[in-house]
Amino acid sequence: MPHPPHSVEWFELMMKRNPHQAAMTAQIIKLAGTDEVCSICGDAGSKVYVVVSDPELTIRLCDDCKRIQKEQSGLSVNPYPSQGRS
Ligand SMILES: [Zn+2]
Repeated sequence: MPHPPHSVEWFELMMKRNPHQAAMTAQIIKLAGTDEVCSICGDAGSKVYVVVSDPELTIRLCDDCKRIQKEQSGLSVNPYPSQGRS
């Protein structure tokens, strides 16, 4: 089971995979005052996903960032296992 986004373990993993994104996300969470926000833009309406190409890695994305990441980076994600309900 991958670590949930924005946990201590998640930041340790993200620092290895993408230190730039890890630093940005740390800043976003600090500004938002909660870690239940999109990992990329800080939007509150976000869901937790698992990265298809790197199943150890989770990410919290709003619908906009999910679409943009797919279009720009080809990032495919699946819903996080614990959020199976719709
Ligand atoms: Zn976003």
